[in-house]
Amino acid sequence: MSMAAVLERLRANVDKMKSVEYRHEQLRALLRCIDENVDRWTEALRKDLHKAKMECLVMEVNYTRNEVICHLNNLDEWTKPEYVKKELLQISDECYIQKEPLGVVLIIGAWNYPVQLVLCPLIAAISAGNCAILKPSELSEASAALIEELLPKYLDKDCFAVINGGVKETTELLEQKFDHIMYTGNSNVGKIVMAAAAKHLTPVTLELGGKSPCYVDKNCDIDVAARRITWGRFINCGQTCIAPDYVLCSSHNQERLLKGLQAALEEYFGKDPKESEDYCRIVNQRHFQRVKTMIEKTKGSIAIGGDSDEKDLYISPTVVKDVQPTDALMEGEIFGPVLPIVTAETADDAIRFINSRDKPLALYAFANDQKVIRDIVERTSSGAFCGNDTMMQMSLSTLPFGGVGTSGMGNYHGKFGFDTFSHKKAVMLKALAMEKMNGLRYPPYTDQKWSW
Ligand code: NAD
Repeated sequence: MSMAAVLERLRANVDKMKSVEYRHEQLRALLRCIDENVDRWTEALRKDLHKAKMECLVMEVNYTRNEVICHLNNLDEWTKPEYVKKELLQISDECYIQKEPLGVVLIIGAWNYPVQLVLCPLIAAISAGNCAILKPSELSEASAALIEELLPKYLDKDCFAVINGGVKETTELLEQKFDHIMYTGNSNVGKIVMAAAAKHLTPVTLELGGKSPCYVDKNCDIDVAARRITWGRFINCGQTCIAPDYVLCSSHNQERLLKGLQAALEEYFGKDPKESEDYCRIVNQRHFQRVKTMIEKTKGSIAIGGDSDEKDLYISPTVVKDVQPTDALMEGEIFGPVLPIVTAETADDAIRFINSRDKPLALYAFANDQKVIRDIVERTSSGAFCGNDTMMQMSLSTLPFGGVGTSGMGNYHGKFGFDTFSHKKAVMLKALAMEKMNGLRYPPYTDQKWSW
């Protein structure tokens, strides 16, 4: 079936999704799809990225499950008309905002969290009452195949479709006219998506990436900071959009931090991370080469790790010290298990450095003094900010998830996702009475009418 035909089938069924009860039904079906196949989700994720079962559960399966439950619990509230403040002129009118589904939306996912990044946008699209076409990433093949197999068994096939494929299929999809596109992935493709959407004036949500900085203040519990940075940087082998991409710290603290990072790595993955059941792999050869080349090109000195095994797509957790801002590791997003440390003697230096670069998806700062942290929040711009931890901002669905500037536009999670996939329709309901008073605004605009 052609992409146009799939879209046409879905478009013919948009009215079904207007029913809030039907949205509940589809969300409950999606919850069953998650719950009844936990082992299959975790097997697919293991195959694609060598993710440990616990990591699959926490970061993908249960994460997605919680998102469905959040929408199921709040959907009735979110869909209620939102009554607005009125003025004298509308005193007897009913004025409210009606949340209206957009129609058929396209969701394009990335490979690093291949279940969560497709299903969480889908949950938001369903709760807002949309039909959707999903395009999982072709790089996480096992997860993509499982999504394609399972979703039609649980969800209404007239309202939802999964299309697997690569650039060719996505390009063909992007030629169609959708009512919204949510894309997760790198910013180069983000530009392609936005340009294609512009041809139809289709709005987009772009969940992109970038280099997320992590400042470590001179007054800070370095060991705790090191443990939290190690977790955020090396989970999923560094292939996380909101992972701390590089550390900014004083030259004095660099050695202390290195010790802490080394200790945390040993605690998490043992003496040889290659043997650890809990250490992931690079997704494919192309990305392996990309990360390896970055390590080879660095002029900084490798303080931890630096080993790799191409056959196994393994790159050891690597920390590079004394990295210069012009270094290869500081050009683009690393998206692999490498952590450069760049010197910033003070919080002011760090703020200047961060503000001289693209706005990041996430920004982290560790300091004992809350004033230092608040100062960084106030004087920088980023999709999200987390003080004294990494990545934990995404654990709260009442916070929006999204970028700013080159790290993305729009956001989702919880109600933010519902709003992203809804149109806010302004509704004013007037009575046919009081025509004499209304007559004031009709021509002819005589002085007699307006003499008051
Ligand atoms: P990817 O290679 O899986 O690409 C993403 C999607 O774009 C895929 O579905 C793919 O089929 C499609 N695509 C690729 N090339 C295309 C083209 N030429 N035309 C049309 N579609 C095309 O994923 P990626 O881009 O390698 O993902 C990694 C990037 O995504 C990183 O920058 C990361 O920070 C970012 N990311 C962001 C988030 C977020 O929520 N903000 C989440 C995960 C990843």
